[in-house]
Amino acid sequence: MTSDLNDIQREVLALKRERGALVLAHNYQLLGVQRVADFVGDSLQLARKSAQVSGYNMIVFAGVRFMAEMAAVLAPEVPVYIPAPDALCPLAAFVDGEKARKCRAQHPGAPVVLYVNTTAEAKTEADVICTSSNAVEVVESLGTDTVIFGPDANLAEYVRRQTGVEVVDVEPRGHCYVHRQFDVAQVELLREEHPGALVLVHPECSPEVQDVADIVCSTGKMVKVVAESRAREFIVATEVGLVERLQAAHPDKTIIPAHPGAVCRQMKKTTLEKVVHVLRELPEENLVTVPPERAERIRRALERMELTVHRPPVASVVAHH
Ligand code: SF4
Repeated sequence: MTSDLNDIQREVLALKRERGALVLAHNYQLLGVQRVADFVGDSLQLARKSAQVSGYNMIVFAGVRFMAEMAAVLAPEVPVYIPAPDALCPLAAFVDGEKARKCRAQHPGAPVVLYVNTTAEAKTEADVICTSSNAVEVVESLGTDTVIFGPDANLAEYVRRQTGVEVVDVEPRGHCYVHRQFDVAQVELLREEHPGALVLVHPECSPEVQDVADIVCSTGKMVKVVAESRAREFIVATEVGLVERLQAAHPDKTIIPAHPGAVCRQMKKTTLEKVVHVLRELPEENLVTVPPERAERIRRALERMELTVHRPPVASVVAHH
């Protein structure tokens, strides 16, 4: 249905067709941007889509830079453009390659598991990459007593609790400032007001907030739960872009933001005007590239993620550096 789109959204659709562009948007993007995307999802879903780019001439990635870098790694045959080149994830900035190398030297033999929210530079140090949807399975499948994990300390704690594995933080201060804003009292108050509501909490929230959740899960899983659950009300502790998306998709259900001020300013830097600009001008400064050698190492760590999630423990994954 394109009849309810505004002029600029229709312009994006026309330019997309003209350029043969695949537009991918993260769940936290502005709703208007999500509407013109070919696919909207969480980091893992978007990475998988990037890898299936055949038939397109280019990717426009509406998200933050590390996500566009992942697309560049997974779709080396097409150019990847980011509408907002200055959209950087502050969580990703907590860890770089040097910190990961130092941690590896202090814990010999422990595999380095890096969350997808890291720069390409840091990812080259990863034995395996994970997302919030598969972090627990990835760590479990490694079959080791200890793993090195970063940059999100709350996700690390979630993995620690779920697996019993000793999880060493690359950077114990690593956090997402958006997910740090949720607090237990607020969630409990909302639960009192909406006794039948299901509480969905992202694992980047603090362990205390995770404790009051009915389900701790990624945004991709939240989409699935809301679509499939019989519940009519949902209290959602993640960035408001996802809350808006869920409410738009399910007008018959009530989606309550656990904190309406949970806005990722970096994600909101992408506007429809910037998407049009990129598609029209193909500006070099919006092109996202990853050097081939670095990309190759990241692809290996990503392949291990897919392997470890779908297959039994693979001993060879341990410390390849
Ligand atoms: S919501 Fe948090 S983790 Fe996601 S891009 Fe924004 S700052 Fe980074």
